[in-house]
Amino acid sequence: MSVAVKDPYQGYRGPCREVMERFGITVWCEVRAKTTQGLFEGLLLPRSETSDELHLVLKLGVGYNIGIRHDTVLELEKIGYREARYQIPEREFPTDPAHPNVKLLGTGGTIASRLDYRTGAVIPAFSPGELYGSVPELAEICNLETEKLFGVFSENMSPEHYLILAEKTGEAIREGYDGVVIGHGTDTMHHTAAALSFMVQNPPVPIIMVGSQRSSDRPSSDAAQNLINATWAAARGPIAEVLVCMFGPTSDLYNLLHRGTRVRKMHSSVRSTFRTLGDIPVAMVEKGKVTPIKDDWRPRRDDREVTVQAAFEEKVTIAYYYPGMQPDVIDAMVEKGYKGIIIAGTGLGHVNRLIYPALARANAAGVHLYMTLQTLWGFVQMQVYETGREILELGVVPLANMLPEVAYIKLGWALGVHPDDPEAVRTLMTTSMAGEMTEREPHDGYLILQGGIPEVQAFLEKVWR
Ligand code: ASP
Repeated sequence: MSVAVKDPYQGYRGPCREVMERFGITVWCEVRAKTTQGLFEGLLLPRSETSDELHLVLKLGVGYNIGIRHDTVLELEKIGYREARYQIPEREFPTDPAHPNVKLLGTGGTIASRLDYRTGAVIPAFSPGELYGSVPELAEICNLETEKLFGVFSENMSPEHYLILAEKTGEAIREGYDGVVIGHGTDTMHHTAAALSFMVQNPPVPIIMVGSQRSSDRPSSDAAQNLINATWAAARGPIAEVLVCMFGPTSDLYNLLHRGTRVRKMHSSVRSTFRTLGDIPVAMVEKGKVTPIKDDWRPRRDDREVTVQAAFEEKVTIAYYYPGMQPDVIDAMVEKGYKGIIIAGTGLGHVNRLIYPALARANAAGVHLYMTLQTLWGFVQMQVYETGREILELGVVPLANMLPEVAYIKLGWALGVHPDDPEAVRTLMTTSMAGEMTEREPHDGYLILQGGIPEVQAFLEKVWR
């Protein structure tokens, strides 16, 4: 999408426009703004036709947009002019027969986005072809084919999308690609990674999910590095699993590959937001090299055989327990026809006594009940306290160290595959398929090999470089 810039006051009306005219400023001027709130320097962006008449929008050097109220402006000084380019040209990917072939499936998210200067919002607007146009290094790694499946921010991903994505991933594998990259919003990337881990079974090639925390028009964007490393892991990496490839440490030293069932977004804004929980990351990727950290991973194979079981029962939910939870919350879920409830309990797997009768009613109604932990690290152990034993007797099944969101996805999938066979569902739920339950956790795993802490950085650099 491009925006015509014929009107130099584009989008600005009323008092804002008056201020601009008074100081001889138009959109795309770099300005030094003296205001009653302080001094700001930045690029004056066009304004959405639908936004208010009261604020000028400045894009600061650090990449953030701020609104300056017209009546706080004391002086606007023009210090430059820089009209933004909206369009990244779509470039045809060069083909090299010696290179591996990778399929990039686009679903949306910040990695496929750029800033809409009219609204100041990040909108899904990059086609995967444009993505390549902005990261030409990809051509040195592989032959890349792209397909835009959806253009949604990941909060809008749903089971419906999971099914299509799983089928498309299976298709790409059967067509002979040497790896699959999936561009995805970061917010719910771990849900989709879990869904693919269960739906696409025993893949012979890597399936690498990638996103970015900062859009590519920001100097601190992680989009290019993440994409390059993800593509490398998919094209040439040895690990044939569903993995999430995102910044390892807070700096841009390397990326980590996290197992699709053990990973979680743990910070709303930092780039190294994805962490492996209950385990250590599977591998690191940097400068054209995938270095395994764990010993147990599924190696790449030459065949193109894969089983895709794309199914999902949507009437599954998570009950995140809080002290004082009332039984009517559980009753309402049952009345509304939910077939499975993942409880995220406290400590070793507890909820208050008050809701026991509601759990008993849910169990009697045939609702699948499973226990996971809010602590995220550690195992459900319901034999330790009497309360735990009582909850077990109500029919709540413990799920070891499966993460709550992963359990939600797995239960939706298991009920989709076996809608009328509760025993089969229970067997699937209590058997680890893709690392979602492990025998043990590293005792200090929630600290090591996760980057970001100076002594960890020093250790990593010594051992893995
Ligand atoms: N809300 C966005 C999404 O998950 C954020 C991102 O892509 O990082 O799609």
